[in-house]
Amino acid sequence: MLQLLFKFSNGVGIFIKDGNGGQGRYMNTSSDKLTFVVDRMLGRLAKWLRVAGFDALYDGKYKREDLIKISEQTGRIIITRDTWFESQGGREAVVLHDNYTIGQLKEFFRRHNIVPDPARFFTRCIVCNSELMIVSRDEVKDVVPSFVLSTQQGFSKCPSCSRIYWGGTHKEKMLETLKVIFP
Ligand SMILES: [Zn+2]
Repeated sequence: MLQLLFKFSNGVGIFIKDGNGGQGRYMNTSSDKLTFVVDRMLGRLAKWLRVAGFDALYDGKYKREDLIKISEQTGRIIITRDTWFESQGGREAVVLHDNYTIGQLKEFFRRHNIVPDPARFFTRCIVCNSELMIVSRDEVKDVVPSFVLSTQQGFSKCPSCSRIYWGGTHKEKMLETLKVIFP
């Protein structure tokens, strides 16, 4: 069975080892470079990975062969519920077994010892996965509601889908959830 060991305490990277006593190998040198492709059953998980700042490609149409192709072409690690991958020694996949999103996230991060960087929380578009740009209040004054403009300080914008993000209660609730996932 495929085993993945992540060691990020010193930015060491990711160590992938097959279950057959193989030597394993390092494939990335920093958590910044860890990228994922997420299977179609794990849309909510993909959203939370993006909230936590991880590059998580997701499409509700991905089939098993799409995941494999994308992983091979881009080096993205597959995150899946498809247990078929467990019989594919050497393939770069993490198979999750928990039925619920929070449990899946805990399973993913704790089992593989990945420590997300809080500085990267809320830096990525939840909808399309692009990295957000910090924008000034002036740049968003015509597109956000006036009560938001008068109560919020920081704004960011997705360069791909043009969504504007700001703080507020939504973000606070998400932070509470992130604290549950990464206590
Ligand atoms: Zn976007």
